[in-house]
Amino acid sequence: MPSRNRSPEPQQAYAAPLPCLREAAASCKACDLWKAATQTVFGEGRADATIMLVGEQPGDLEDRAGRPFVGPAGKLLDQALVEAGIDRSDVYVTNVVKHFKWSPAERGKKRIHKKPRDSEIQACRPWLDAELAVVKPKILVCLGATAAQSLLGKDFRVSRQRGQIIESPLAPHVVATVHPSSILRAQDDESRHSQMQAFIQDLKHVARFLKGDKAA
Ligand code: SF4
Repeated sequence: MPSRNRSPEPQQAYAAPLPCLREAAASCKACDLWKAATQTVFGEGRADATIMLVGEQPGDLEDRAGRPFVGPAGKLLDQALVEAGIDRSDVYVTNVVKHFKWSPAERGKKRIHKKPRDSEIQACRPWLDAELAVVKPKILVCLGATAAQSLLGKDFRVSRQRGQIIESPLAPHVVATVHPSSILRAQDDESRHSQMQAFIQDLKHVARFLKGDKAA
């Protein structure tokens, strides 16, 4: 696999179309996460998407498929987008880290998700910056604490600040909500239902904001 030196420099990456960025990221070795992962999972969606959704990192199924948000959390996200009235084709989905970080389960062959370190998030940041530079979304939606804190600062608390529209140099507007995987981890059906409804409300807020509804 090519070394980091073959990845584009940020200023070159910014000018590159998405297929070129995806191809370059496929050989990235800027941190060690590529070693245990199957492949780079780059973002997916139209280059002129209005909304960019950013999660933490690909999961087990995404790692195998090479596509973001295709596992259970992705299916839940798709459902929430439909219920919020957001056209999936108007959304670009990606992660702050493009390789799956995992450790083996104590028993069996299951691969257990591990949270990426700050250094790994920083190493991967040029890819996200390049995606932002190409897509130029009107609104950037951080899914979960890892994405929110890496893009909005360590003091950001999704539990307190979810749904708030924030001014940021990253995009004209930035907002954070939960990661759909947290809804899957809810302890019972009632809790799962209420968390899903809150997630849909956050996405509806995004949709209304984009339509210029002052009541949003
Ligand atoms: S996680 Fe990001 S920075 Fe690290 S090797 Fe993968 S693409 Fe490169």
